[in-house]
Amino acid sequence: MTSTTAESVSPDGQTPAGDGGRVALSLTRRTTRPARHLADLSGEERRQVAVSLGQPAFRADQLSRHYFTRLIDADDADAMTDLPERVRGPLVDALLPRLLAAARTQSCDDGRTRKTAWRAADGALLESVIMRYPDRATVCVSSQAGCGMGCPFCATGQGGLTRNLSTGEIVEQVVHAARVIRRGELAGGTARLSNVVFMGMGEPLANYAAVTAALRRLVAAPPEGLGLSARGLTVSTVGLVPAMRRLATEGLPVTLALSLHAPDDELRDTLVPINNRWPVAEALAAAWEYAELTGRRISIEYALIDGVNDDPGRAEALAALLVGRLAHVNLIPLNPTDGSSWQASAPAGQRAFVRRLRERGIATTVRDTRGREIAAACGQLAAEPTAAAGRPHRAAAAAGSQADGTRVPR
Ligand code: SAH
Ligand code: SF4
Repeated sequence: MTSTTAESVSPDGQTPAGDGGRVALSLTRRTTRPARHLADLSGEERRQVAVSLGQPAFRADQLSRHYFTRLIDADDADAMTDLPERVRGPLVDALLPRLLAAARTQSCDDGRTRKTAWRAADGALLESVIMRYPDRATVCVSSQAGCGMGCPFCATGQGGLTRNLSTGEIVEQVVHAARVIRRGELAGGTARLSNVVFMGMGEPLANYAAVTAALRRLVAAPPEGLGLSARGLTVSTVGLVPAMRRLATEGLPVTLALSLHAPDDELRDTLVPINNRWPVAEALAAAWEYAELTGRRISIEYALIDGVNDDPGRAEALAALLVGRLAHVNLIPLNPTDGSSWQASAPAGQRAFVRRLRERGIATTVRDTRGREIAAACGQLAAEPTAAAGRPHRAAAAAGSQADGTRVPR
């Protein structure tokens, strides 16, 4: 399932010079990559794989339909009865490897929220959160195992980056959620997965190629992809300006959420360290460019932190930045994390902040705190150290979140 490369290196870390006189230690350096999965490939590339196995090209489409339409995977290969048994095994091995194993599943909200911690083949841990609402179902997915952006209020950031996820690993989280929802495994009955938010672990735009390929698979009609509406997809970014600009030109009209958290550079520099590279004005300029090119309203994410960014002056400054723009503000009461002593704003302060924004004509919602008790809410990582990935890091958890519109108007 993983590709391994070995190379010979000398004790001082150099590759052998080939002088023959020196005894070099032969160390094996393993570089593992997630196995190739059909979701990593376009329909045409999948067909080429089928042909390389001596199969007719259409076998790849049959397999893709099982995955994207019937939502079945290698565990249910026996149900792929239109694939002759002798071709099923090789085809499944080549295109449908098991990328993620559920390490832990937790539920709350009377069974309407489920968080799954996944272990990838190399031991990397990540999480996704499925949320069932009366009128829709959402999954919050991870784009990286961990995150390297270092926002101090976020448990994912406190743990650092393990690695980027592959397109297959991202799509797998979504297909799994679609299956759970369709089978009615969550309270609330059977439904169709309608929303995917990239608000789990990681910075999606720091894993640009894999994330945009995943978005394409999610919106492509079967058998190429899952056939979701781009309107139901949200990519949340800390504000990687060049990647935001590039995303605007991809022809993927997904919703872009910008995690702003402060209207001024002085404070944002400390809350969102990447602000030192791309300050507020540049991040917002890229957001407005995105809105203009895609016609999509920007979601401005703002975690309300007691005594830090919730003062009236900042509400006014935020309103001044947004007035007249195609944007709305999504306020997130800060979810507590082990690595920070910051608290959510008190209810009165929160209400005052909302009122000020609305008085300036800024559309504003407050996100619910669904999943808090199982550390599945925004930015809350299960802080379990694990040796699985070879170094201690905060396990699995995702900033499972609800920015798809899980809003509680106040
Ligand atoms: N890296 C991306 C997406 C993942 S984080 C980003 O930062 O946008 C998803 C959302 O959760 C972001 O808006 C992030 O700012 C927010 N978040 C992180 N930690 C949080 C916390 N402790 N409480 C509330 N929101 C948090
Ligand atoms: Fe990374 Fe987003 Fe957390 Fe910042 S808030 S550390 S960008 S996951």
